[in-house]
Amino acid sequence: MGEILRAENISKTYQAGRVVVKALNRCSFSVERGEFVAVVGRSGSGKSTLLRILASFDKPDEGKVYVEGEEISGLKGKKLAQFRQEKIGFIYQDYSLFPEYTAYENVLLPLKIAHQAVDKEQLERLFEELGITDCRERYPDEMSGGQKQRAAVARALITSPQLVLADEPSGALGSHAADALMQLFEEINQEGQTIVMVTHSVKAACAAKRVLFIKDGEVFHQLYRGNLGRDEMYQKISDTLTIIATGGERHE
Ligand code: ADP
Ligand code: MG
Repeated sequence: MGEILRAENISKTYQAGRVVVKALNRCSFSVERGEFVAVVGRSGSGKSTLLRILASFDKPDEGKVYVEGEEISGLKGKKLAQFRQEKIGFIYQDYSLFPEYTAYENVLLPLKIAHQAVDKEQLERLFEELGITDCRERYPDEMSGGQKQRAAVARALITSPQLVLADEPSGALGSHAADALMQLFEEINQEGQTIVMVTHSVKAACAAKRVLFIKDGEVFHQLYRGNLGRDEMYQKISDTLTIIATGGERHE
């Protein structure tokens, strides 16, 4: 299979006025091709910062990110744009849809930018699987939060990217839509796409094959689903989050 992604000692500090926040603190891990990894941790633990850096949207103060063995901080201009277009599908926590475009137009945009042909069937199927077929011609301000979130998912998946980076992709969804989304993720993962998903939801994390726990800007612990049943996985994730929340020490 081989490694598709590696973060090596990533550090990132933010300064807002007099307040200095160490969002990431020498964070390291790697992801194999074909994995489905959930990243969990408390609010403010650095998850979104990490995902943006993995996608090359943001630069770390220190450390390196490798995608397919290539260090992405070394990419510039056209190569950087090409990398983002061809390799990455990014689902933003705040959706980041363009308000002047319909759902349809928003989703087609990545293809347009990459000068790729539209596969109408794939497009229709995505909208259907995500349950937003009736939103095709709607503008973002005519859609609910959950519908916008699903349009943002469709936009990230339309190019069939090798690496899907998703920031709380079910955060605005009801339980039914969230389950459907996780099923879609499991399907595309089975077909070979690699997924790194930040989530608050223990249930969503159970869909992943591996869970990384982030605490204070670094990987605190990880769990492989392996042969665990969903209930067992759910319990293990919950227990680890409780340990993190109560500031306890990890025990293997
Ligand atoms: P999470 O996604 O886990 O909630 P974030 O990565 O969004 O965490 O944020 C990690 C920490 O960095 C938080 O304390 C947050 O307030 C801070 N932070 C994030 N982005 C910025 C920014 N642009 N300016 C200042 N502080 C920021
Ligand atoms: Mg976040």
